[in-house]
Amino acid sequence: MADIIDGRAIARQLDEKTKAQVDELVAAGHSAPGLTVILVGEDPASEVYVRRKIKACEKVGIRSTEHRLPADTSQEDLLALIDQLNKDEDVHGILCQVPLPDHIDTRLVLRSISPEKDVDGFHPVNVGRLSTGTGGIVPCTPLGVMMLLKSVIPDLTGKDVVVIGKSNIVGKPVANLLLDAEATVTVTHIYTEGLPEICRQADVIVAAAGAPELVKGHWVKDGAVIIDVGITRKEGEDGKTKLVGDVKFDEVQHAKAVTPVPGGVGPMTIACLLANTVQAARNLMGYGDAERGDDYADAPDRSMHTTA
Ligand code: NAD
Repeated sequence: MADIIDGRAIARQLDEKTKAQVDELVAAGHSAPGLTVILVGEDPASEVYVRRKIKACEKVGIRSTEHRLPADTSQEDLLALIDQLNKDEDVHGILCQVPLPDHIDTRLVLRSISPEKDVDGFHPVNVGRLSTGTGGIVPCTPLGVMMLLKSVIPDLTGKDVVVIGKSNIVGKPVANLLLDAEATVTVTHIYTEGLPEICRQADVIVAAAGAPELVKGHWVKDGAVIIDVGITRKEGEDGKTKLVGDVKFDEVQHAKAVTPVPGGVGPMTIACLLANTVQAARNLMGYGDAERGDDYADAPDRSMHTTA
């Protein structure tokens, strides 16, 4: 039976570390790290994500501020707000929830956030630093993927890893982090031929395609480790909607370990956002040791796994 990697438990463990860092800063006479979230319009999914993020901040002692702007906010006004937040010393992290309304240039907006406060890690400066292995803020989901993976395989040197998906927010940054960890990485995508055979060679599969139950049991070699990033809402036979990952979970019990959906990568994404906010605050406060996203090389506790 494959171990189930408990993302909720590992996220709680990371939150404890983050809270301890917040307490340490406050004890040293600093203000608590501050995260500002900007939400433009009323996209229901974005509302849920923003609420979750704000609530998570409270748990670890991060100060959070919300700017809710109407859907018809002009790009100019949004950029002016970001400029003001970039200059505000009480704001250490800025997150602009995407998707933005069509009349706003998302890339321009994300580029206008100061790289030091870019807790999503989407600014080209942070992307460049990640791809050259020179620090910076690491995007939350890829950082969470690495932590989950390291809870099973602390040393990835020479491991054969297949990443399914090459998006800028998941696939590419995950591939860069894996290369930094000395893994042998194959990045695949919708036009890749022979994906089942490629996956069958892999010690590790990171599935981030958004294609429900794409990875079948016979794609996975015995003892492989699978990190399932995909989340798709699907209607079940009973008419109720449920969340489905990119992996046919019931067919991969011959794997060494697998993340569930939900309860795998999802909780790690928010925990990493909090960790990134504290990292940004520590950098801005002059603690030079906080160069890199909460030291993902520090593997979480293996007792966090349960057996299926
Ligand atoms: P995306 O649509 O931007 O990119 C998907 C990538 O997968 C593309 O490179 C595409 O070529 C590839 N792909 C799609 N179908 C494929 C197939 N059948 N075979 C091989 N490759 C295929 O998606 P994204 O933003 O990277 O997100 C991927 C998935 O991860 C989605 O389900 C998304 O909801 C999920 N996600 C989860 C979290 C989390 O916190 N758990 C965070 C971000 C994204």
